[in-house]
Amino acid sequence: MSDTSDYSKCFAEDVFTIKTMRNYLSVKAYQSLTETINRRSSLNPDIADEVADAMKTWAVERGATHFTHWFQPLTGATAEKHDAFLAPDHEGGCILQFSGKELIKGEPDASSFPSGGLRATFEARGYTAWDPTSPAFIKRGTKSSTLCIPTVFCAYSGEALDEKTPLLRSVEALSKQVCRLAKLFGIDVEGKRAYTTLGPEQEYFLIDKKHYERRIDLMQTGRTLFGRQPAKHQQMEDHYFAPIKPRIMAFMEDLDRELWRLGIPAKTRHNEVCPAQFEIAPVFEELCIAVDHNMLTMEILRNVAEQHGLVCLLHEKPFAGVNGSGKHNNWSVVGPDGRNWLSPGENPHENAEFLTMICALMKAIDTHALLLRAAVASAGNDHRLGANEAPPAILSIFLGEQLTDVIEQIEKGRPKSSKNGGILKIGVSTLPPLPRDATDRNRTSPFAFTGNKFEFRAVGSSHNCSAANTVLNTIVADAIDNICTELESSLAAGTPFNDALQSILQKIVKKHKRILFNGDNYTEEWKKEAARRGLPNITSTPEALKAFISPEAIDLFERHGVLSRRELTSRYRASLENYHKTIVLEANCALSIAKTMIIPAAINYQDEIVRTLVGTTKVIKNIRCVETKQLLQRVATLTEATLKACRTLEASVKADKTEKILPAMQALRSAVDGLEELLPSDRWPLAAYADMMFVL
Ligand code: ADP
Ligand code: MG
Repeated sequence: MSDTSDYSKCFAEDVFTIKTMRNYLSVKAYQSLTETINRRSSLNPDIADEVADAMKTWAVERGATHFTHWFQPLTGATAEKHDAFLAPDHEGGCILQFSGKELIKGEPDASSFPSGGLRATFEARGYTAWDPTSPAFIKRGTKSSTLCIPTVFCAYSGEALDEKTPLLRSVEALSKQVCRLAKLFGIDVEGKRAYTTLGPEQEYFLIDKKHYERRIDLMQTGRTLFGRQPAKHQQMEDHYFAPIKPRIMAFMEDLDRELWRLGIPAKTRHNEVCPAQFEIAPVFEELCIAVDHNMLTMEILRNVAEQHGLVCLLHEKPFAGVNGSGKHNNWSVVGPDGRNWLSPGENPHENAEFLTMICALMKAIDTHALLLRAAVASAGNDHRLGANEAPPAILSIFLGEQLTDVIEQIEKGRPKSSKNGGILKIGVSTLPPLPRDATDRNRTSPFAFTGNKFEFRAVGSSHNCSAANTVLNTIVADAIDNICTELESSLAAGTPFNDALQSILQKIVKKHKRILFNGDNYTEEWKKEAARRGLPNITSTPEALKAFISPEAIDLFERHGVLSRRELTSRYRASLENYHKTIVLEANCALSIAKTMIIPAAINYQDEIVRTLVGTTKVIKNIRCVETKQLLQRVATLTEATLKACRTLEASVKADKTEKILPAMQALRSAVDGLEELLPSDRWPLAAYADMMFVL
């Protein structure tokens, strides 16, 4: 085993970092490029050739033969098309070439990517454009490697066809408003910017490949469409944080190494609640880089699993009846003063920037809950958000005891004190006294304050978290915009700063305090209470997505230059189409499994029982076989129910009505799961839940 110094040395070894650039670029080009990266000044096209050549030299030293523009289309995955550096030298040999032009712009055929009607197939032109703020990196193959250049992807018209473009725009929109606010606070904002940070905690399942290969539903849809709950699942609560099994540990060690090599700061690894479920969390980074890194993390999870004879499931709900997987989106804002504006400090009641941010968030989430809900809507996530699982579809904010108290003081007048946590008493004299956090945790809230950041827990495990963060940035930018406008006019009218701010925050708290909820979000009482408060509870994707094309949303996104009406409409259509295709695909897959695998197995078993009955009664004259006949009756009844459910499902697929397909699939599932309980396990055509969850 190699020693730990190896680990720190391998960190980011396959990334063209700012530090690496210094060794490969002239001083002039290096300064110009770092200026663009650090200050977001526009890229100087004169240095493109030099940067391209430097990247190529660096990449070739690492075995690269090809380069690719790497981007994030609306498929939810990443995309790449490789080109070799190779160019004939016209003397019978070849040279390796990579020009500034090739670095800056690519032109993939855009016609086969989802555009939600933004462009027709005959308008195939699409462009990828280098995003210098995200570092280039190397993907290793078995024999050689590929230089990957993060890019944005847009149509001939300049309209966004990807997740990254609006994300970048939303960061700029938020920065603009935070800097405007900072200026009012007397902070120097000259040449500075604000940005958001993200630490996405990623949940996933691992199952043995040999079981996966006996689950056509997992292979085709990412989730199990059938499956009887095993006697033991997660009810003993003995998997969460349990010692990691050697085979999984070997996987995690390789995974961490791969991630570190790409500069992805993987930090935390542990067993999750459900057997076969795990989590990985990185150290937080600047938002867009964290998103790139999360997309790569999902890819590497799959690849490393494969190398270990495992399959990584990133679906939001691979197994019914047990926990699904999410992506906890830890989000915060760094102001132009370089400080985390969601860090309360010792005395939150005196921390005006912090309190203004908290109020801006209350206003943003309460006003635009529907948009945030829409940003996490997908067929897979409906199984979490729409069902009785974490987190619920009702958006609310958890602030905890200390902050709720400060907010209540704001409502009444100027806040004067902050409760502190005090000392934690454990009752063991040898243990040192532990300072206690000012606030306990709440694991049930969809949007929880966790000390110095907010954790949005509704993002699906398979999602690109760009959409959620684009919405979050934009709605917070809008709330701050409103606060600034009001503050500026009060100040112009001669109101002292503190009085003006106090009165604005007080108004916000009064109007939006209904969004605060510190209790248990899983309960029926909360559902009722939320309804009384007028908070929306949207449980299906088609309904949720409508928020994207509401007049208020269009106005909001256009005002902040994040998405145009056409871009929003295209995203709405692409998401709806994806939802619809997913449901129909799942229905067809379920039908195929039921008709060609389950029913034949059930009929064979019936036949076997019939023959046994006939044979037994022939041999043993006075036996009546009442119980065996009962078994036959149960199998026959469920086989009939399965056949009938297939017919209903087929009709609803034909009618193309997703709202009818879903209950029909449920009916089919319950008949099939009933059969699984009765049929011999060695003749059941699908891998069992118990095997998938426990044989690892
Ligand atoms: P927990 O979920 O138990 O609170 P941590 O506090 O370790 O766990 O944080 C979870 C994730 O939140 C990690 O990825 C961490 O890097 C991230 N995080 C911590 N601080 C911030 C921040 N200021 N901005 C964004 N993410 C953060
Ligand atoms: Mg967390």
